[in-house]
Amino acid sequence: MKPKILIVEDEPTIVDSIQYALETDGFDVSCLSSGIPVMQLLSGKNMDLIILDIGLPDINGLELCKEIRKLYTVPIIFLTARADEVDRVVGLEIGADDYVVKPFSPRELTARVKAVLRRVSNSKTSAPLAGAFQSKTFQIDESKRRISYFDMPLELSRYEYKILKTFIQRPGRVYTRDQLMDLVWDEPEASMDRTVDAHIKNIRAKLKSINSETDPIVTHRGTGYSLKEGL
Ligand code: CA
Repeated sequence: MKPKILIVEDEPTIVDSIQYALETDGFDVSCLSSGIPVMQLLSGKNMDLIILDIGLPDINGLELCKEIRKLYTVPIIFLTARADEVDRVVGLEIGADDYVVKPFSPRELTARVKAVLRRVSNSKTSAPLAGAFQSKTFQIDESKRRISYFDMPLELSRYEYKILKTFIQRPGRVYTRDQLMDLVWDEPEASMDRTVDAHIKNIRAKLKSINSETDPIVTHRGTGYSLKEGL
C-alpha cells in the first residue's frame, strides 16, 4: 500500500512541486492549503506523515503541531522560511521529526520524507500498539504493563514504565523533559522538571543491573533524552 502523505501548505507552487515529486516516488498525497481542517481530516483518515508549513494563513504551524501531538504520533516534517522558526523546531519543543528550510528542492524533501518513514517503520510504531510489542532488546507487554530487557523483566514504577515505553516506541526520537511530562504524567503541572531526570536515572540503573555493557538511553545536553536506534 502507498504511504499516505498530507501536505499542509498555502503556496500553490510549492504544493505542486512537492506533490508531483512525492507522487512520482509512489506516495499517496493529500493537500490542504490551510491548517484548521487538518484535525478533521486526521479524524477520518490515517496519515503516514504530514508536511506542515509553519506560515499558514489561519493558524501557526507550530501551534497546529501541538494540537496534532495531543492526539496523534504521526511524523511531522516542517517547512519553514525563517531562521528563528528553525530554532524553535530544532529545539523539538513541539515534537517535530524533521524540518526543511525554504527554498528547498523537492528531491531533498522526498529524501527527508523517506528517511523519517524508515525511522518510524524501524521502530514499528506506525502500527497500533496492541498486546506485546517486540524489539530485539526490549519487549513490552502492555496487558501486564511490563517491559523486559534482554529477556529479563524490569521492575519499573508506573512513571518509569511509561517513560521507557515512550522511548522504545520511537527509538532515536529526542524527547524534551516537557514532552515526557506531557506524555506520561497525569498532572504535568504538579511535577518538577527535575523529576524526569530522577526517573531517567532510576531507569538507567535498572537497565544497567541487567546489562552493564551498554547504556541505551542517550542524554542530549540542554534538550532531553532519546533511546538509541537499532536496538
Ligand atoms: Ca506559507
